[in-house]
Amino acid sequence: MVKQTIQIFARIYSIDEDEKLTSSLEIILPRDLADGFVNNKREIYKFKFQRIFDQDAKQDIIFEVIAKPVAESALAGYNGTIFAYGQTGSGKTFTITGGAERYSDRGIIPRTLSYIFKQLQKDSSKIYTTHISYLEIYNECGYDLLDPRHEASSLEDLPKVTILEDTDQNIHLKNLSLHQATTEEEALNLLFLGDTNRMIAETPMNQASTRSHCIFTVHLSSKEPGSATVRHAKLHLVDLAGSERVAKTGVGGLLLTEAKYINLSLHYLEQVIIALSEKHRSHIPYRNSMMTSVLRDSLGGNCMTTMIATLSLEKRNIDESISTCRFAQRVALIKNEAVLNEEIDPRLTIIHLQKEIQELKDELAIVTGEQRTEALTEAEILQLEKLITSFLEDQDPEGRLEVGADMRKIHHCFHHLKKLLNDKKIPEKSPVSSEIKDQECQESLKEEEYKKLRDLLKQRDNEINILVNMLKKEKKKTQDALHLPSADRSEIKLPQSLPFPRGNLGEKTLLSSVPIQAQDFSTSRNRSSLLHNKTGMREEMSLGRQEAFEIFKRDHADSVTIDDNKQILKQRFSEAKALGESINEARSKIGHLKEEITQRSIQQVALGISESMAVPSVPDLQEEKLRSQLEEEKRRYKTMFTRLKALKVEIEHLQLLMDKAKVKLQKEFEAWWAEEATNLQANSPAVNTPGHMKPFPHSSESQQDRSQLLSNKSSQGWKVQDKGAGRFHVCDGNARKILPSPCPSPHSREQSSIGAQPEGSISERPVSTIPLTGDRQTDSDILAFIKARQNILQKKCLGGN
Ligand code: ADP
Ligand code: MG
Repeated sequence: MVKQTIQIFARIYSIDEDEKLTSSLEIILPRDLADGFVNNKREIYKFKFQRIFDQDAKQDIIFEVIAKPVAESALAGYNGTIFAYGQTGSGKTFTITGGAERYSDRGIIPRTLSYIFKQLQKDSSKIYTTHISYLEIYNECGYDLLDPRHEASSLEDLPKVTILEDTDQNIHLKNLSLHQATTEEEALNLLFLGDTNRMIAETPMNQASTRSHCIFTVHLSSKEPGSATVRHAKLHLVDLAGSERVAKTGVGGLLLTEAKYINLSLHYLEQVIIALSEKHRSHIPYRNSMMTSVLRDSLGGNCMTTMIATLSLEKRNIDESISTCRFAQRVALIKNEAVLNEEIDPRLTIIHLQKEIQELKDELAIVTGEQRTEALTEAEILQLEKLITSFLEDQDPEGRLEVGADMRKIHHCFHHLKKLLNDKKIPEKSPVSSEIKDQECQESLKEEEYKKLRDLLKQRDNEINILVNMLKKEKKKTQDALHLPSADRSEIKLPQSLPFPRGNLGEKTLLSSVPIQAQDFSTSRNRSSLLHNKTGMREEMSLGRQEAFEIFKRDHADSVTIDDNKQILKQRFSEAKALGESINEARSKIGHLKEEITQRSIQQVALGISESMAVPSVPDLQEEKLRSQLEEEKRRYKTMFTRLKALKVEIEHLQLLMDKAKVKLQKEFEAWWAEEATNLQANSPAVNTPGHMKPFPHSSESQQDRSQLLSNKSSQGWKVQDKGAGRFHVCDGNARKILPSPCPSPHSREQSSIGAQPEGSISERPVSTIPLTGDRQTDSDILAFIKARQNILQKKCLGGN
């Protein structure tokens, strides 16, 4: 059993001071601000964490310090949970899943998967199985993000995940699918599939991700070969809903119902945390909400739990940051007792028990002295002799001869064994004849061996020829495949024309020449087909719309990222190609060396025969040299092979990121398109006034958030300073001016945009509001707009110069 309190860490985003890693955070609120903001405010807040990470802390260190110990204990058989808590925009998703742009930004989930599968590969002493599930909880309803039916139906139509409790109060989740993953790649694909499903279900009007909880779970089980004991461990990686309060956003009406819901859900989480942190509390209100029920074991009890408080220490976020820190301090009081979840495999137990019963019966028969006097039958004797033969052949030193509690049988066995032993001894009594036999035998053996080696040689020669031919063909194919995409670089087409074409020629020719296990790209193909079905409606787009989409894409801020990633992908691809070639070279070198060694031994044998003397017992220097070369070559091969495997994972990851970018781009385009169409209808008399045109979104929402955060910070003169010894002082230049909240938080902005929508229409896109005047007509109108807008812009640019 491992006893420990829940570990708490803080990660601060948007703070520009260089802060040493420390463990306590001090927020000082100037008195004037404290007075103005909320009454009775304290001035100094001190919070202790296991460790605090500032903005410079990269994802790898977050993984090393926070997630790796939890992953390690999951591998040892303990349940583990890592959850991120904080307001919207503070970096929960960035920490748990990762950023959508760079490979180095991948978060705790992909890194944990990578770590777990590496460890599993290293440990051959146990048999492991890994399953993945991915649950989203939104408005108290559970959704399976990996349900294959996502492809055909919308989130709302899928069966809800519900909680069942058995008589031992264990929680079971109905309708949540478990997917076996045998490699890191398969697990990663599941993560991305879930994320994409989540993104697709979300509309621009309904940024559900800020109001839903996501629980990615790795289910590990392990067993030693032959043992009946199975260990199970669950590792939950949780991205909670934004923790902002409803009171601050101040919205009313329908939206409040929704906002209240998250609050309710997080509120129940807080209640559970409070109950758990208080001694002598017997009732813990887990059942109040779905999330606390699901995490029941993970919050207080049999689990190694870790919380990451994500903080955005902006002035306007101080209130939320303080409440996040307060929550963390409560959490840190909870003590957990993690035990190994061991279970006996019932089938193996039955076999053990059956054997034991038989043994006991036999013993009982001997003790009670049951006598049998009649002679053994022919069949019984035959059966016994068979048993003795297999007993003698059995290599297992612990193998037993089980004949039951029948003294007649026991005696017969001894008798038979004695006979066998005596029979074997007889030939040894005539040593002369045996010597002659030995010599004859040896000679025929040598001849046989020689023939065998000659055949082997011939076989190897053939093999080499075939391999060389294959290699040539493969090389040519790879080159062809490589030249194709690079010829067509000018246009961004995703993902069909990636420099590393998914699941077709490039991948296969490159990688199939190297024996990598699990080259199954079926999941990724499924995923991209899903993306295509759900969002890739380009084939159905009218020409005008397609053209608009191309322009939209070109002007979109994300296209830079996409291009960058394409560039990186290309580099990785050529590195992989070069590696593949070197690996093949190393392999054929290994083949040659082996061949030489074989030849060398054949020569030795031949020499032995022709000079009719034994093979020299002195070590053959030449052969030793060849062997050490072989070892060296094998090592080289292994190193390159490992690197190639890592490259493959990175390439796959980058492709997934680009897939995601594509979905995002299309969704944004659709929203923009629909909005333009609506505007066009509203302003139809002014069709030729390009001033009505809303510009393309040049930066993603998150970037807007970020730049807004930064600009707020500089314009309001707020600073978070390091006053040594881990003290953060928040000083205010002109506090009064900015009160109350000077600019809408990302949260309130979202809220107000949703506020315009009636509640029931969450998933409805504004597309449905376009009157059906003929899609093509609207399309060409919009196209005309875009062109007009571009002309004006061009003129402006020229005039400006
Ligand atoms: P949340 O999930 O808490 O709402 P996100 O993880 O989506 O917040 O973060 C909001 C934005 O800030 C994203 O664009 C994200 O990439 C960025 N971001 C958050 N934390 C960091 C960080 N530590 N380093 C760089 N970018 C970050
Ligand atoms: Mg998020």
